[in-house]
Amino acid sequence: MARINDHYQKLRAGYLFPEIGRRVRAFAESHPDARIIRLGIGDVTEPLAPAITAAMHEAVDELARRETFKGYGPEQGYDFLLDAIREHDYRARGVELGRDEIFVSDGSKCDSGNIQELFDAGATMAVTDPVYPVYVDSNVMAGRTGAVDADGRYPGLVYLPTTPANGFSPTPPDAAVDVVYLCSPNNPTGAVMDRAALTRWVAWARERDAVIIFDAAYEAYITDPALPRSIYEIDGARECAIEVRSFSKRAGFTGVRCAFMVVPKALTGRTATGERVSINAMWSRRHTTKFNGASYVVQRGAAAVYTADGLAQTGAQVAFYMENARLLRDGLTDAGFRVHGGQHAPYLWIEAPAGVTSWDFFDRLLAEAHLVGTPGSGFGPAGEGFFRLSAFNSRANVEEAIARIRKAFAHR
Ligand SMILES: *Cc1c(COP(=O)(O)O)cnc(C)c1O
Repeated sequence: MARINDHYQKLRAGYLFPEIGRRVRAFAESHPDARIIRLGIGDVTEPLAPAITAAMHEAVDELARRETFKGYGPEQGYDFLLDAIREHDYRARGVELGRDEIFVSDGSKCDSGNIQELFDAGATMAVTDPVYPVYVDSNVMAGRTGAVDADGRYPGLVYLPTTPANGFSPTPPDAAVDVVYLCSPNNPTGAVMDRAALTRWVAWARERDAVIIFDAAYEAYITDPALPRSIYEIDGARECAIEVRSFSKRAGFTGVRCAFMVVPKALTGRTATGERVSINAMWSRRHTTKFNGASYVVQRGAAAVYTADGLAQTGAQVAFYMENARLLRDGLTDAGFRVHGGQHAPYLWIEAPAGVTSWDFFDRLLAEAHLVGTPGSGFGPAGEGFFRLSAFNSRANVEEAIARIRKAFAHR
């Protein structure tokens, strides 16, 4: 009999999105004429930019010819993509990275879920609350937690609440923590960490010999050029931080699949006997053992993001989503809501009216405006009373959504 990994039994059943689906279906059945607009989804809606599809078509044709056919590529990624990343994402911001510090993959979900296996089973991990669920669930699977409690928290993890009280910017904990997951610009709160906040985290990590896993999947949505886009813009971050990046939100690759992770050579951890070990070398061993490289066609598409046309076209898409975010922010504010985020991220984090829970607000918005969002409590107990709306939609849907919100909540 095959004994299973019992830690999987501790995972909460997929609750948030199935429950949203159930409530939307029930409403649609009883209101067949309602045109429901979904603003709940964290997925892009614009088609791939022409510079990207042209590069991918060309790559497919190369694979169709004997002379230019390619089989397995380098597990870490092709040099043409690594060099484009180094040049445009890092050198342009004063950060010099080696090719062997960048690991191309087929997604940040995998990277941010897999990275925890480099750390001891007894390591203490910290996450924000609310949180991108991958960071939590991957550590539950690895056995670093007890059974979930009544609030939806796992004993063994350190939770860092992000609320209006701290401007949604988590503060370094006093508790002994080995690894912390930070996401900025943040999903779901839409908040961004500034240079001072990142500097505090880097100082904390260096003092504690801790590691920061910095998820920058939404860096392209930062509109203020003075804000850091990479944690390596902070001195000393190479000794304490791993950075997670993705083409998903920045270039519409959610279905194409390409991402990368930066693991600096200067980053080390300690063995049981106190020896210093390179985390870059460990991740390289892990990546080459369990991954055989992202597709050539996809990497050609990703490299095309950095061409002049690619930068202009994907930049215009990001600007389009951010204009949606601005419209939503202004419309909701006018309707009397307190709104956070949406300035450097495609997410708005809305305060439900006083005393209204996230799920009650979900039901009201669905019933009164035929709009679907995501209840904040689904991202963690500190998300209770909040609601996430996404700017990934057509302009027509965003405008219609705002008109409905104004109408439904005008009496407030
Ligand atoms: C969408 C998203 C990613 C990107 O995931 P992919 O697997 O690369 O599509 C990473 N982190 C966060 C917080 C996200 O919301």
